[in-house]
Amino acid sequence: MKSFSSFGLNPVLLKAVDEQGYQLPTPIQEATIPVVLTGQDVLAGAQTGTGKTAAFALPLLHRLSEQKLNRTNRSVAILVLCPTRELAQQVGESFRQYGAYSGISVGVVYGGVSLNIQIKELRDGVDVLVATPGRLLDHLARKTVILSDVTSLVFDEADRMLDMGFLDDINQILKSLPKERQTLMFSATFDDSLFALSRRLLIEPQLIEVNQRNAAAGSVEQIAYEVDKSRKREVTSYLIGSRNWHQVLIFVRSKKAADSLSAELKKDGIDAVAIHGDKSQGARERALAEFKEGKIRALVATDVASRGLDIQQLKYVINYELPHNAEDYIHRIGRTGRAGENGLAVTLLSADESWLLDAIHKIIDTRLLQQWLPGFEPDLTQDFTPPARPRKASRKRYRGKPRS
Ligand code: AMP
Repeated sequence: MKSFSSFGLNPVLLKAVDEQGYQLPTPIQEATIPVVLTGQDVLAGAQTGTGKTAAFALPLLHRLSEQKLNRTNRSVAILVLCPTRELAQQVGESFRQYGAYSGISVGVVYGGVSLNIQIKELRDGVDVLVATPGRLLDHLARKTVILSDVTSLVFDEADRMLDMGFLDDINQILKSLPKERQTLMFSATFDDSLFALSRRLLIEPQLIEVNQRNAAAGSVEQIAYEVDKSRKREVTSYLIGSRNWHQVLIFVRSKKAADSLSAELKKDGIDAVAIHGDKSQGARERALAEFKEGKIRALVATDVASRGLDIQQLKYVINYELPHNAEDYIHRIGRTGRAGENGLAVTLLSADESWLLDAIHKIIDTRLLQQWLPGFEPDLTQDFTPPARPRKASRKRYRGKPRS
């Protein structure tokens, strides 16, 4: 296996990598860093948690550090587009950490916070800009940012950007960028719309895949418990309490469900906070910080709010409700099992959700073992809508001890 120093990266970057405690490059880093260093375009299939941020940030910072010798005026040279503010913050933070000794300045712009602070930051000059599309367009319209000197453009979590309807914004942003540039696209999943975008924007890209496409991270154990919808809250409190889970991320589909579940968990004595799009940026950041510090035991999140969360060593994810978009399942369980840690993703499956599980099975290309949790077996006379496939044939009764 290669070491970081074998890539020929600038020593100031190696020093920062060393300080991060990274010993060896992850597979996506090993595959991507040398390609990006040559200036080629890249289309990479990589999930969150694989180390993909450093896979593009390090070689781009290296290239910039080489060019910077002659640069007098700071203007944006590297632009990274991210679907959510949380991801933008994380990616910006990573660039700052990796570039800590390089003298390269990093700006981050996203919506939901004051424009003025960002305008000042941009006026002072940034070499690397990490942005969500909507807010970047606001700055372009105000002429508070100039993108004509961009040499490298990165799409991070490109699939998610398309899912969130950012295609028009992206097209608009592209008009302000030089045609001649390096373009890198990272995505956890691939579908026709993503390939269409990549064909339009990437020139003879190197295709890099480290995990099977559309496949969930390998180090995450996935379990589906069949439970009655009306007992999901009880099961959640039971799992967290009886198994002594100290940090668990719980996914729901709606803001309302996030608020009500976190309130219910609190009644059960579990410190829980909801994060979703209606919460202010400050409230979301506070909740995340407290969760990371271990002050909050359960974070109840919607899919959009959870994107980009990087929580070190998160072991447990509960899918309280399955997502309507099957690909969100992959993103959800990618919150655990990051950077080689093992994780457990438990899905609480009520009978009305079996069609959603079918869609998930198709994209993860495997079937989750559906089990009953002793004491919480579903009442088959209630809450039952006929599923797409015969229930009896697919049900496997779980007879062993509960896993811990
Ligand atoms: P990412 O996929 O970029 O969100 O990274 C996931 C996590 O892996 C982050 O917490 C990184 O700090 C960490 N990480 C990235 N590269 C390495 C590496 N080579 N060794 C250990 N941890 C890493």
